[in-house]
Amino acid sequence: MTTHKILLLPGDGIGPEIIAEARKLLACFAEHAGLRFDLWEDHIGGCAYEAYGVPLTRDTLETARAADAILMGAVGGPQWADVPYDKRPEAGLLTLRKELDLFANLRPAIVFDALVDASTLKPEIVKGLDILIVRELTGGVYFGEPRGIETLPDGQRRGFNTQVYTTNEIRRVADVAFTLARKRNGRVCSMEKANVMESGKLWREEVTKRHAESYADIDLSHMYADNGAMQLCRNPGQFDVIVTDNLFGDILSDEAAMLTGSLGMLPSASLGAPGSPGLYEPIHGSAPDIAGKGIANPLATILSLAMLLRYSLDRGDLADRIEQAVQTVLSEGLRTPDIMAEGCTATDTAGMGAAILRALYS
Ligand code: NAD
Repeated sequence: MTTHKILLLPGDGIGPEIIAEARKLLACFAEHAGLRFDLWEDHIGGCAYEAYGVPLTRDTLETARAADAILMGAVGGPQWADVPYDKRPEAGLLTLRKELDLFANLRPAIVFDALVDASTLKPEIVKGLDILIVRELTGGVYFGEPRGIETLPDGQRRGFNTQVYTTNEIRRVADVAFTLARKRNGRVCSMEKANVMESGKLWREEVTKRHAESYADIDLSHMYADNGAMQLCRNPGQFDVIVTDNLFGDILSDEAAMLTGSLGMLPSASLGAPGSPGLYEPIHGSAPDIAGKGIANPLATILSLAMLLRYSLDRGDLADRIEQAVQTVLSEGLRTPDIMAEGCTATDTAGMGAAILRALYS
């Protein structure tokens, strides 16, 4: 039987509380689903800085490289606000993403029926919503050279960045989107600004070529990113998988996340080349305002674990069961404070975790 090596990085704030619930699920799958895990746990972020003087040690990075998948909580907190930039908690996470070459960021936006009223959009617009945004994560304008701020001869200052993509960078993230669409509803919408940017024109050409070469069974469409932003609010249900670059993906994935209305519910995955470890984490931060109170919503982390099972361990069946359990528990009216609504039953982090376990194995 295969042993799956999983690295748990709880991090700061509510991180340890929410990762503890995911750990219980892993133990449960080891007992009931015949999976075998080799579980490692280490520090990242502020707690690593306190323990080792850096937010990510070389040892932790090597452990991450050797893992099949990494499940992270969150990093950061006000106590590290004055730490030098390269030692800040966030620097640990950025280094991890960069060193593992995690070039595809997957952000699902799913509206659970029981939470349809949490969205600021009308229920009929978001009901049943299930979109996956694939954002290119290691290229584009955030990394392009040259970049800087210079002073011009007339004394004005000029800030500049470079939007740059190579064919390989576009093709590999397009591959991820097409492959994922095959396991979903078979539709990919690629978004860029081919009308005004050369990098967008290249993006469109390469995605189209990749489609013709290997993914003719997928329904491919193209949209300018500004129209995409509008369509996400107008009629989000038209999308299945959206693939886009780093800058547009940053904005569009936050917009899509907010369609669901609940930060504590949203998972994410960052993937690299096939066979390399994926990083799975909730999209929310370390929530210092509620850390240590035992009331954080663990569902974004539990849904991140579902993504880990689906994409790194090829156990889509178990991922489906977790997602179904979340659906069941929510429809029974159980709520942590962040998603509390009238007539529902209040619970805490551990209570929500226990309810998911019960729904899985009752
Ligand atoms: P945040 O996401 O931590 O919190 C925003 C609000 O949402 C808070 O009121 C918080 O209590 C609530 N919230 C977040 N997650 C919740 C959960 N699971 N259950 C219940 N309520 C939840 O964002 P912030 O306050 O802007 O940032 C706090 C720290 O987290 C900062 O140091 C920031 O840099 C860091 N951060 C880290 C990540 C990451 O690790 N990937 C992402 C975003 C922010």
